[in-house]
Amino acid sequence: MFDLKNQSISYKDTLALENISLHIRAGEKVAFIGPSGAGKTTLLYALYERRPDQVAFVHQHYALVPQLSVFHNVYAGKLDSHKTWYNLLNLLKPQKPELACIQPILQSLNMGELLHKRAGALSGGQQQRIAIARALYRNSEIFLGDEPVSSIDPHQAGSVMELIMQSAPTVVLSLHSVDLALQFAQRLVGVRKGQIFFDLPTLDVTKMLLTELYRS
Ligand code: ADP
Ligand code: MG
Repeated sequence: MFDLKNQSISYKDTLALENISLHIRAGEKVAFIGPSGAGKTTLLYALYERRPDQVAFVHQHYALVPQLSVFHNVYAGKLDSHKTWYNLLNLLKPQKPELACIQPILQSLNMGELLHKRAGALSGGQQQRIAIARALYRNSEIFLGDEPVSSIDPHQAGSVMELIMQSAPTVVLSLHSVDLALQFAQRLVGVRKGQIFFDLPTLDVTKMLLTELYRS
């Protein structure tokens, strides 16, 4: 599904990723963990660029249109798979088939009553759930999420993680919470200073490795 070989990525004078090799097969559930600035976001974008048409992406800062309603933000997840006239029609008045598809997704995220609210008027956790709903509605083979539950209440984060993990055969997430990574991913990639520090089945990741990964 993804095959990076000796990949380096720089931003102007910052080397963000150095000689990364990473192979991800279809059907894998992978989490990137590691300190802030390690290169997790850059690595996710590198994957996205390989297969933009097959990916639903949840951005770290949500990437919503704050002036538009929750419905319209979620609907945007499939703009490219509908005809222009149908997109315009939905902009004017949400159509029954799309409502019937989007409403249950919002309900599964405890957002059922917010369908017609303006996205910009909602809390950070609610906005993050809109971004997740948009990716679920897009319904792609590959789900990429950049810290997709970072603003969601801890007691809800687990059930949202479950939804995400079941939403696509291949799921690759960066996660701030090591606990969630250990609980939900089958494979953990520890990223540190632009390099892959370890790449192991979750069960083989030791406390000592985790301590080393986050060592300052
Ligand atoms: P993480 O997601 O693990 O926090 P990032 O991939 O965002 O890490 O960043 C990796 C490195 O690249 C950091 O040193 C960061 O400062 C740098 N970086 C990220 N985005 C930019 C950018 N747009 N311009 C310049 N440097 C950047
Ligand atoms: Mg990041």
